[in-house]
Amino acid sequence: MKKRCKDPTIDTVRGELDSFIKKFTNFFPIKQPVNEDRNSCAICMEKYDDKKCIECTLLCGHRSCFECLNKLPNKQCPMCQKAFTNDQIIKLF
Ligand SMILES: [Zn+2]
Ligand SMILES: [Zn+2]
Repeated sequence: MKKRCKDPTIDTVRGELDSFIKKFTNFFPIKQPVNEDRNSCAICMEKYDDKKCIECTLLCGHRSCFECLNKLPNKQCPMCQKAFTNDQIIKLF
């Protein structure tokens, strides 16, 4: 009975995976975000929290805090001008 202590396919797969990851990271270099604007409101620049600056998203996918969206005089997305109604403000908290 032959006893294999090591399965060569695992090394092959691992090697392929490594080169794939290397290729992948070259293709999409991981960049540090310029600023943390995914975590803060685009209008008032406040960081999102669960009380004062509640992160909300609109149907168009743009985000802003509930306060700012709620007090916009014209109910339009501040980023793409898409009209929205108050019940289309989706709270993320
Ligand atoms: Zn805001
Ligand atoms: Zn929008």
